[in-house]
Amino acid sequence: MRDIVIIGAGPAGLSAAISCREAHLNTLVIDEFPKPGGRLLGQLHQEPTGEWWNGILETEKLLDRANELKTDIRTEVSAHHIEKIDNGFIVHTNREQIKTANVLIATGAAEVPAPIPGWTLPGVMSIGAAQVMTNVHRVKVGEKGIVAGVNVLSAAIAREMQLANIDLHSMMLPVKNAITEEAGDPRKVMEGLARIGHLAPSPFLRFGSTFASEKIVQNLVVKFYPKNGFKMWGMPIHIRKAIKQINGTDKVESVTVVKVDPDGNVIPNTEEIVEVDFVCIAGGLYPLSELASVAGCPFHYAEELGGHVPVHNESMETPVDGLYVAGNITGIESAKVAARQGTVAGLSIAKKYAQNKADITFQLEVAKDLVKQTRDDASIQFHPNIREGRKKVHNAFNEQVKP
Ligand SMILES: Cc1cc2nc3c(=O)[nH]c(=O)nc-3n(C[C@H](O)[C@H](O)[C@H](O)COP(=O)(O)OP(=O)(O)OC[C@H]3O[C@@H](n4cnc5c(N)ncnc54)[C@H](O)[C@@H]3O)c2cc1C
Repeated sequence: MRDIVIIGAGPAGLSAAISCREAHLNTLVIDEFPKPGGRLLGQLHQEPTGEWWNGILETEKLLDRANELKTDIRTEVSAHHIEKIDNGFIVHTNREQIKTANVLIATGAAEVPAPIPGWTLPGVMSIGAAQVMTNVHRVKVGEKGIVAGVNVLSAAIAREMQLANIDLHSMMLPVKNAITEEAGDPRKVMEGLARIGHLAPSPFLRFGSTFASEKIVQNLVVKFYPKNGFKMWGMPIHIRKAIKQINGTDKVESVTVVKVDPDGNVIPNTEEIVEVDFVCIAGGLYPLSELASVAGCPFHYAEELGGHVPVHNESMETPVDGLYVAGNITGIESAKVAARQGTVAGLSIAKKYAQNKADITFQLEVAKDLVKQTRDDASIQFHPNIREGRKKVHNAFNEQVKP
């Protein structure tokens, strides 16, 4: 019987494992990917300070410490069920069933699909797949591409692709339909852009971002958005143009682009064909939380966190005794916040077993403060009002555990 099984070896899972091993807990980390590191492995961006965030190096740092502590990390192991038993859980995986007193779910996030006619053609991929191919597998995804979906994630990954010398025509919206209602709405997209505007070389976007909370200014920016887009790192970003159709016989050959009004409605007779050989679809991220559901954890819907998240408190405990969550499963934030949450979860679990509770309680409080501080200092926010979202979920926890 393990003390703790951690599902997911991203920044949250690895940081939690380090805290658990520092407390000498019998810890197993499993991950379905062939390498540990999670989404960190694909990340490469420049911070506003000018420093580079290199996810591969960050992963190495975490792994070096985990290996020093002789942490048992197993890859290509996929968990598909968590069964509650009297004194803990059985984690069902593709390899074996593992008995454990505690489980931490740190499965991260998944991409929201944004369907566009023609999206089953070879050469169409999610923006996250393009990131993994470019930065993890070092495979060139095509000669010339276009990004359908303008958001924090697609801007970051488009920049990474540019750095890898991949030619991108531009970024624009997917055409608005029942599923892409938000991703295809220029006003909603502008709200998101405003959160990364401070990173943009364009004064126009920086202006929009300065007044991110001012709806009037945002509406004006949408209305008077330049016809040729504005350029971010030399690449045009359009929010008044949308991809209506992806064309090709056996693979992507071009896209049909249309102009849209400030509400995202297609302006008739504005079609143009843009020749590309790949298309990246970027619909945003949502917490990957199914395993928490099968384990019996209640959920709370918080748009600010990216969707339905398992109910939990600041110590990353859920109302299910022995079940913990950390990282993007609790809300979409950066890798730095995920790692800090992992440390909190690890310390919470270690506290259960600690002889000296005062010492570890102090460490836990410091770790909780560091989560907040890291959130406040984050250069990129995936969703607005993340703090309010967190508060709502923590309140839901207090409601659930009321005697
Ligand atoms: C496509 C994509 C791109 C991203 N790019 C960026 C970026 O450029 N910059 C940024 O700041 N943030 C980015 N993020 C957000 C990113 O999720 C966080 O930065 C951070 O990596 C979250 O850490 P985590 O540990 O919670 O999850 P992850 O890093 O996502 O790690 C979760 C791990 O759990 C594993 N897993 C999932 N389900 C199972 C299962 N059932 N069984 C076993 N293992 C499982 C996965 O294989 C993965 O390794 C991206 C997210 C996604 C989905």
